[in-house]
Amino acid sequence: MAKKQFKTESKRLLDLMINSIYTHKEIFLRELISNASDAIDKIYYKALTDENITFNKDDYYIKITPDKKSRILIIEDTGIGMTKEELEENLGVIAKSGSLNFKKENEIKDGHDIIGQFGVGFYSAFMVAKTVCVISKALGSDEAYKWVSSGADGYTIEPCEKEKTGTEIILTINENTEEENYDEYLEEYRLQYLIKKYSDFIRYPIKMDMPSSVKKEGTEDEYEEALQEQTINSMVPIWRKNKNELKDEDYENFYNEKHYGFDKPIKHIHISADGAVRYNAILYIPEKTPYDFYTKDYEKGLELYSNGVLIMNKCPDLLPDYFSFVQ
Ligand code: ADP
Repeated sequence: MAKKQFKTESKRLLDLMINSIYTHKEIFLRELISNASDAIDKIYYKALTDENITFNKDDYYIKITPDKKSRILIIEDTGIGMTKEELEENLGVIAKSGSLNFKKENEIKDGHDIIGQFGVGFYSAFMVAKTVCVISKALGSDEAYKWVSSGADGYTIEPCEKEKTGTEIILTINENTEEENYDEYLEEYRLQYLIKKYSDFIRYPIKMDMPSSVKKEGTEDEYEEALQEQTINSMVPIWRKNKNELKDEDYENFYNEKHYGFDKPIKHIHISADGAVRYNAILYIPEKTPYDFYTKDYEKGLELYSNGVLIMNKCPDLLPDYFSFVQ
């Protein structure tokens, strides 16, 4: 089959991404999960206006499946899918997302952060995978297509079989190198950690088969290790909930869960602003001074989320220095 070439700008960005010593390769998972969630949003909005589509929330999910033996990681969604043309158009060009122009203007200088913050999205898969295969069936179509690429040399598209509407991203994960442990992207607990860290508040369930101990069939109290499907993310962020549904305890639990501190906060402030800028915020005043507060290593800042996705761990611009203890 003839290989198609990526558009020039995509090629440059791909090279940059694969070859840059980018320290946060793990964000590829956040990017692919965000795309999956967007694809489900799209089917949801269609369902609002098209009475032929019924949106049954239980049918919509994202599933993560690692397989250590074959070094394959699958990110599957039941979203709107892509037609053959959309596969070409969306995955053959990067320029659309606007991150490339941004990159050009700021020429690599600070390139590493840009990848993370502006979501070059799909292409970040090449930071961890030597081959990326996308199998997709668009809403309302009987045909499915398979897009395959092993990096900057181009991609192929051919028809294939797929039962459900939606998309499967199949990554063949790189072999370990001296500097990089890629195996971790095939381990359930590591993936669970990454999903919790970056994608905990994605609105749809992110499912994975987790090793669990289950009762052995035919026994009373014998257990065995088996995989059991679990929903990994908690879905609704506390700051989206109504203040009067929340008790002090809920705020304290969230504080401890997020490891802002191991103490009990003295006070929490929950703000919802709706004006020229719209945001929700929860601020905590810790009871105890953070252990490294008086060292030069202490970093002030708030955790910053956009659409439920973690963008920055510590955004310093959101806090003046005299409030640097606020979490
Ligand atoms: P961005 O998300 O910033 O637009 P990406 O490179 O991540 O950039 O994705 C490019 C486009 O490919 C998306 O805008 C979307 O139209 C399409 N796409 C990517 N992943 C999926 C998916 N899982 N399902 C449907 N469409 C997708």
